[in-house]
Parts: sequence; C-alpha cells; structure tokens
Amino acid sequence: MADTTVYDVVVVGGGPSGATAANDLALAGRSVALLDRAGRIKPCGGAIPPRAIRDFRIPDSLLVAKIAAARMISPKGNRVDMPIDNGFVGMVDREHFDEWLRERAAVSGAQRVTGTYEHITREQGVVLVHYRPKGAASDAPMAVLRARLVIGADGARSQVAAQEVPGGENVKCVFAYHEIVRTPERGQGDVAADRCDVYYQGWLSPDFYAWIFPHGGTLSIGTGSAHKGFSLRTAVRDLRAATGLDRSVTVRREGAPIPMKPLKKWDNGKDVLLAGDAAGVVAPASGEGIYYAMLGGRLAADAGETFLATRDGLALAQARRRFMKAHGRVFWILGIMQYFWYGSDRRREKFVSICKDKDVQRLTWESYMNKELVRKDPVAHVRIFFKDLAHLFGFAST
Ligand SMILES: Cc1cc2nc3c(=O)[nH]c(=O)nc-3n(C[C@H](O)[C@H](O)[C@H](O)COP(=O)(O)OP(=O)(O)OC[C@H]3O[C@@H](n4cnc5c(N)ncnc54)[C@H](O)[C@@H]3O)c2cc1C
Repeated sequence: MADTTVYDVVVVGGGPSGATAANDLALAGRSVALLDRAGRIKPCGGAIPPRAIRDFRIPDSLLVAKIAAARMISPKGNRVDMPIDNGFVGMVDREHFDEWLRERAAVSGAQRVTGTYEHITREQGVVLVHYRPKGAASDAPMAVLRARLVIGADGARSQVAAQEVPGGENVKCVFAYHEIVRTPERGQGDVAADRCDVYYQGWLSPDFYAWIFPHGGTLSIGTGSAHKGFSLRTAVRDLRAATGLDRSVTVRREGAPIPMKPLKKWDNGKDVLLAGDAAGVVAPASGEGIYYAMLGGRLAADAGETFLATRDGLALAQARRRFMKAHGRVFWILGIMQYFWYGSDRRREKFVSICKDKDVQRLTWESYMNKELVRKDPVAHVRIFFKDLAHLFGFAST
C-alpha cells in the first residue's frame, strides 16, 4: 500500500550533509525520511579536522589514520614539512563513515529509504518527492514520499538544486579523480602512515593540486582540475610512478566533481533548502568539504526547525546567512589564494616556499583545525603579509 505519511522533512541524499540534517531533526523530535540511492562509495580523500570530530561527535573508531604533518612538494621538487603541533588531522573511509552517519540518524528516529530521487510535485501545500526504489523495474511506477520541507543534500550536480532552486543548475566544478591502492610494506614507496603529501606541480594539476593521503591499509592518490583537456588519470599514473607506488595493488579508481563556489541561493523561499555540495559548499584551494557539509546539514536542520514552527518560507534563508557569516571570509581568501598561487609553476614554487615560514604553518593549522580565522596574533599576520609581498614581487628567494 502507498505510504501516505506526511513527514516534517524528507532529506534527499545521505552523505555527511544529509545524514547530519536528518540526525539533528530526528533528535529534535521531527518526523524525517532520509532518502539515499546507496550502492556507491563517495570518492574522497577523507581528511577531517578536529573541529568536525568534536562538533559532530565522530568516534575514534572511525578514524583509519591520524595525521601529524603535511608535506608540500614544489614544482622543482622542494619539500616543506608542516608538522601539527597540537593535535592531528583525522582520516575516514567514506564507505564506513557515511553509513555510520546514516545509521546514527536512523537510531535517532529518521526513516531510511533506499532509492533514487527523480523530481518533486506539490499537492495542497504538501511536497511530493518522487523516487525510484532500489531494485524496482525501470518501467515500475515511481514511489512517493510526502513532506512539508525537502532538504536537498544530494551532492555536487544536485538534481534537487537544478530543478527547484534558481541558479542551482549551473555550478562550476573542479573534477577530482583518485585511486585507492594498498599501502606498501614499510620503507617502500615515497609515503608515510601519518603524513599527507600535497603536490603543487603543474604536470600533476595545472590549477589545483595532487595528493597522497594515507588511510591505514590503503592510500588515496589523486588530483583535481577544472581544465577539460587535462588527463587526471595520466597524472595519477605518473604520480604513482614517481613515488614508487605504481606496483601497489589498485583497489578502486573513481572520480567526482567538487563544486567551486557556494550558490547565491540555497532555498526556494517556500519548501526546499539545500545543504553541502548541493549548495556548492566546498572550500576553494583545499577542496575540503566534509566539515562544511556537516555544518551545512546542521544549519539546514536549524532553519528547517524555524520554518516548521513558523511556516515562514523566509526562515529557510537563515542557513546560508549563518554559514556565510561564519565562513564567507575564509572562502573568499581561499578563492583568491587558489586563483593566484595555483596559476603557474613559478607561483607554486613561491607558495611552497612561503610554507616554510613558522608563522604561516601555525596560522594555517590553527585555522584549518578549528575553522576560525586566528585573530589573536595580529603581529604574525602583519609579518606574513610583508613576507607574502616580498615573494610576490620577487624580493625573497625561493
Ligand atoms: C576525489 C575527492 C576527494 C575529496 N577529498 C576530501 C577530503 O579529503 N576532505 C574533505 O573534507 N572533503 C573532500 N572532498 C569533498 C567532499 O567529499 C564533499 O564535499 C562531501 O562529501 C560533501 O558531502 P555531501 O553530503 O554534501 O555530498 P555527498 O557526500 O556527495 O553525498 C551525497 C549523497 O546523495 C546521494 N544521492 C545523490 N544523488 C541522489 C539521488 N538522485 N537520489 C538519492 N540519493 C542521491 C548519494 O548517494 C550520496 O550519499 C573530496 C571530494 C572528491 C571528489
């Protein structure tokens, strides 16, 4: 028999943003359906900051590695190690991380539904979410979930965004590709179990970076670019060869788009709100999206709560407003950084050289780990500013 329940909220997409939104709303006592198509592991480097671990209560058991330093590698092969003085970066495997988040939402009271979102219609003030249940024949009629509010958390190239939110159909993306390979025996290959390696080299990415991230028994070796003609697969093959990882067993090869800029609108002012990649929320320059997706899910849940209590469609806009107030400035700075420093090998060389600076290292880590601009050390900012200028105009040696 058809399900005629009207949920307070249907969340489309059970990645970090959707699962967080569903969990928060269910904990607040709302009736929630969490629709996810399942069956695909999200391609991802899986690095998360301590702020994400703290704010979203991520158990230690989900961390497959703890990172103590990043190594930046310049076009000329210069290496700059940036040790983390207080704490670590956590690494998660998305296969288990996402499922754990979805299951937590279910334990909190959300109804899990497995199927593929198709489109939305409306009937007497209720939103009808049409979806294809997993395993249904292609000519079988679509199933429907009814809701007062839909949270679109269906990732980059979101169908909910494209269909329901003005401007949601044309999100600019970097395309990222990585290979999951078995970690070689100790001493083999140019890697370490507790270090993330970041390659700023034009032959590995003309406009982003390439990486090797350790995940315990496996490594994520990847790169990204917005250049259509650039072969990401060739770059990863070459990086594996250059680091002695070409003979390691390949477990998976996969890629996905990463949005480059938050959308101008995250809601339709009525009954649909976006979160995470669907809203275009990934940090420029770093491509970091997990923490921001979870925060987006939380803010969408808060805005949804206000909307359900007041039935005022304008309340939905508070999610974007609160997000941009907290992180808009950092996104803006990172956008400029990416545009400027990733523009040529000459600039990349200088960028890596700047990372030798102890002030740069400390402020970078503090901002990344805690997701707050470090304001308490203005003298360090001024020092960095003048060193940046010196590098920019070529007064400082690389
Ligand atoms: C190669 C790569 C490496 C990355 N590395 C990092 C990293 O190291 N650290 C970091 O912080 N970020 C990283 N990111 C970014 C990060 O993965 C994303 O920002 C994050 O996953 C966004 O979460 P989300 O919940 O918004 O979307 P997603 O994680 O994409 O989740 C979307 C969910 O929606 C579901 N879905 C999609 N379409 C439908 C549909 N039609 N019907 C039903 N369900 C649907 C999917 O099954 C999925 O579960 C990386 C991205 C890529 C591509």
